[in-house]
Amino acid sequence: MTAVSEPDTRTVVIVGTGIAGSGAAQALRKEGFGGSIILIGSETEEPYRRPALSKELLSGKASIDRVRLRPSTFWNEQGIDLRIGVTVTRIDTDSRTIHLADGDGVDYDVLILATGGRSRRLTAEDSERVHYLRDIADMRRLQSQLIEGSSLLVVGGGLIGSEVASTARDLGCSVQVLEAQPLPLSRLLPPSIAEKIAALHNLAGVALQTGVDLETLTTSVDGVTARARDGREWTADLAVVAIGSLPDTDVAAAAGIGVDNGISVDRYLRTSVVDVYAIGDVANVPNGFLGGMHRGEHWNTAQDHAVAVAKTIVGKEEPFESVPWSWSNQFGRNIQVAGWPGADDTVIVRGDLDSYDFTAICMRDGNIVGAVSVGRPKDIRAVRTLIERSPDISVDVLADSNRDLTELAAGLVALPVL
Ligand SMILES: Cc1cc2nc3c(=O)[nH]c(=O)nc-3n(C[C@H](O)[C@H](O)[C@H](O)COP(=O)(O)OP(=O)(O)OC[C@H]3O[C@@H](n4cnc5c(N)ncnc54)[C@H](O)[C@@H]3O)c2cc1C
Repeated sequence: MTAVSEPDTRTVVIVGTGIAGSGAAQALRKEGFGGSIILIGSETEEPYRRPALSKELLSGKASIDRVRLRPSTFWNEQGIDLRIGVTVTRIDTDSRTIHLADGDGVDYDVLILATGGRSRRLTAEDSERVHYLRDIADMRRLQSQLIEGSSLLVVGGGLIGSEVASTARDLGCSVQVLEAQPLPLSRLLPPSIAEKIAALHNLAGVALQTGVDLETLTTSVDGVTARARDGREWTADLAVVAIGSLPDTDVAAAAGIGVDNGISVDRYLRTSVVDVYAIGDVANVPNGFLGGMHRGEHWNTAQDHAVAVAKTIVGKEEPFESVPWSWSNQFGRNIQVAGWPGADDTVIVRGDLDSYDFTAICMRDGNIVGAVSVGRPKDIRAVRTLIERSPDISVDVLADSNRDLTELAAGLVALPVL
C-alpha cells in the first residue's frame, strides 16, 4: 500500500511585498506548498518593480500599472492573502504571532522577513525640496518637482544617484551631482572603469563634482544649498539624496532575532530563531565564494533568495549559492555588474572602453571575482559561470577578444564543480 503524505497545513506569513516577499509567496505555490500564505506589506501599492522608480516611472515613460509584478487578480487566484498598507510593528517569536499597527495579531507557523531597506538619510531637517527615493510615494513627490527647466542637486554618484541624474537630464533639468569619492561608483568599480562612467555624466551635460565632503545641505524658500567643508557651494531648486540604504531590521532586532548589518542568516536563509527566515536586501548571507558574509542589494539576489527559501520550507533545501548580478540604465547605456568587483582588482578589458562596448573582468589573488560590462549582457552571464567554477584560465585567454566568453563558460558547465 502506498503511504499518503499528510497535507501541509502550516501558515507561512511573509513580511514585505517587495520582490523578495512576493517572490517567496509565488515560489512556495510553485513548489506545491498547500498551506496558507499571508503576504503583508506597508506600502499601499500592489507589488511592483522597484528598479523602475529611478527609470521609466520617474521619467513618466511607464505608469504604475505597467510595472506591477502581477495583475491584481493573480494573488487571489494563487491563494495568496495579500494585505497591503499594513505595517508589522512587533513579532512575538514565543507565541509565533506578529502584531500589526492597527492592533491586530496574525499567527504563523513559519515567518519570512523580507523587509528590505530604507534610504540612508542626511541629518538635515526634512524639507519639501529635499528628496529620497525608495518607494512610489517618494517617486511621486520627486516627479512633481522635477519639471523641465528646474535645477537639481544629486547628493551621491552611486547607481541610483546616477540614474536619477540621467532621468532628470532627459526631462530637461539642469543637474549637478556631488560625489564624495574621486570618481562615481569608485567603491564598486576599478578606477579605469569608473572614469568611463564619470565621462558619461559629462557627455550628458551633468556637472559632476567629486571629492565633495558635504558639510551642510540647507533649504530656503528659494532653493537648496549644499556646502562642502572646503568652501565650495552649489545651489539648485531641489535635491535628491542618494547615499545608500540601510537594512530594515528594527522589528527583527526588537524580537531578539540576530542582526548584524542586516538580519543574519545561514546558507539556508534561516535566522537565529527557529522557523523564522530572512531574504532579500535585509538578509546578510554567508558568501560561499569569497567567504565572510554578504548583504546584496540587487533585484536578482532578492529573487534568488525567494526561490531558495521556498525550497527550504518545503523540505528541498540546498545551501544558497549564487553569484549576484545587477544592471543599471543610465545615460542611454545598459551597465551590468556580476560578482563582487572591487576598486583594487586587476582589470582585463575585452572590447573598447572608449566606445562603451566592453566587458571588464576583475581578478583578485588570481581568481575571477567580478565583471562590469556595457552593452554585452551575454558576457555577464558567462562571467557568472566563470566565477562559480573558478577555472584555471590564463589572463591571455581572458584578454583575447577572439575567444568567446560564452563558449569558454559552456565548456566548464560540462565539468564537475571542484
Ligand atoms: C530607486 C531604485 C532603483 C533600483 N534599481 C535597481 C536596478 O536597476 N537593478 C538592481 O538590481 N536593483 C535595483 N534596485 C535595488 C532593488 O530594487 C532591491 O534590491 C530590491 O527591491 C530588494 O527587494 P526586497 O524585496 O528585498 O526589498 P524591498 O523592495 O525594499 O521591499 C521590502 C518591503 O517591505 C516592506 N516593509 C518593511 N518593513 C515592514 C514592516 N514592518 N511591515 C510591513 N512591511 C514592511 C517595505 O515597505 C517594502 O515594501 C533599485 C532600488 C531602488 C530604490
